[in-house]
Amino acid sequence: MSITNAPLVLYVYRCTVCGQAGKLHLPESSPEVTTACSACGAEVLAEWDGGVELVTDQPD
Ligand SMILES: [Zn+2]
Repeated sequence: MSITNAPLVLYVYRCTVCGQAGKLHLPESSPEVTTACSACGAEVLAEWDGGVELVTDQPD
């Protein structure tokens, strides 16, 4: 059975090469993910920022 409704969580990183502070939303998978710095392309380790950020429908 595939996961079709995984919550998105906010990951944050700070590049050790250029100092770029970045963030990204990814489906919840692991506490840490390896990604590429958006500024210089160096490999960085992004970590959960505080916890799960649920994406919900809020009728207006
Ligand atoms: Zn960088």
